[in-house]
Amino acid sequence: MSAGTTSCSTRESDDRTVKLLVLQPTPFCNIDCDYCYLANRLSTKKMQPAQAVDIVDRLVASGAVGSDLSMVWHAGEPLVLASSYYEEIFSALAARRYPFTIRHSFQTNGMLINDEWCNLFHKWSVNVGVSVDGPASIHDAHRKDRKGNGTHAKVMEGIRTLQRHSVPFHAIAVVTAESLLHPEEVIDFFLETGVDRVGFNIEELEGANKSSSVAGENVSNVRRFFEVMAEGEERSQGKLTIREFENARGAIKGSHTQDCPSPDLRNEQTLPYAILTVAWDGAMTAFSPELIDASSKDYGDFILGNILRDPLAEIFASPKFKQIASAIDLGCKRCAETCQYFSVCGGGAPSNKYFENGSFESTETVYCRSVIQIPIDIMLAQAERQLGIAPPEKSIPQNSNRNGGDRPVHAV
Ligand code: SF4
Ligand code: SF4
Repeated sequence: MSAGTTSCSTRESDDRTVKLLVLQPTPFCNIDCDYCYLANRLSTKKMQPAQAVDIVDRLVASGAVGSDLSMVWHAGEPLVLASSYYEEIFSALAARRYPFTIRHSFQTNGMLINDEWCNLFHKWSVNVGVSVDGPASIHDAHRKDRKGNGTHAKVMEGIRTLQRHSVPFHAIAVVTAESLLHPEEVIDFFLETGVDRVGFNIEELEGANKSSSVAGENVSNVRRFFEVMAEGEERSQGKLTIREFENARGAIKGSHTQDCPSPDLRNEQTLPYAILTVAWDGAMTAFSPELIDASSKDYGDFILGNILRDPLAEIFASPKFKQIASAIDLGCKRCAETCQYFSVCGGGAPSNKYFENGSFESTETVYCRSVIQIPIDIMLAQAERQLGIAPPEKSIPQNSNRNGGDRPVHAV
């Protein structure tokens, strides 16, 4: 394989529309996972419903919304607020009759899901993601409440409630050292639970999470983990889809997942305007949503302005925005010059590059090796096996999109 020759997506895109708006209704979380990247998850501050609507109005007034807008309620546990809070916001947004479609998503730890929430999910066709790492022995190693007790039993209650109400949902599982030791248990859990779609996020060095249980792991353990997941996906005969393989297959075929229809949007996290993340008070960042609550020696925090106060054009014209955008762009350029997976990946996740390598201008990370490179290798090998061929050299297609499904947010 040769390195990608395509120029970086940040430089080639003129598209200034926001694709994904991540809103933090509150930083508060009712549990205390030890790998959480949010530093302020004890804060009970909250965004007022009128402010949430105002944020969308301001984006519209700035001409920053295209034909659709995906709104993800996250960066804290969204369900700690009442369902009436979201009902008020969703109704107000619907009453605006914007000339574009809004799709709401919640990424939740699942602990508070009940009948009332399921009614809201149905009423507003909310895309629901539940964080569950696998069976209790693996999940409870890291996902604990504030008293140090495991949360698995309660999450399973939430999942059963969703299933009883026929609410479609997907799972997001963080891959930790425990998961790598027991991949068979992880895949059996998802098959037996009846989850039809799961995405795996490797435990990352990000924000408040200063160490990762997989950081020192041999890559062969990660490869073995994903090989077992691929065997399980095959065994499920279409009942279970694994996001990383779905993205890899889309890339190999040169197509795109249904959640990412834009053919020229290679990697939303490296596009300056595609993803905006707004904290409860209107403080805003761009690129990787994980930057919202992080700080660094180079930039201080990553807040670029306050969307409730500052005109969007002013925020995008600020020296800090330009400095960060330029560093991310350079990292992409280096990826394009050196990495054979660039045509599929588009330059990775800026937050991972920064927190793993200390610079946006860097290239390979544990994250990209794990959830981009390895799944592509496995899917290529699977395709070759199924076709009964063994090409002399693996071929990575052009014009493919890494950010399928729920990936834009490192949902945990
Ligand atoms: S990882 Fe998610 S569920 Fe866990 S403490 Fe952080 S915000 Fe809460
Ligand atoms: S982030 Fe990683 S996989 Fe993606 S292009 Fe860069 S080095 Fe390659």
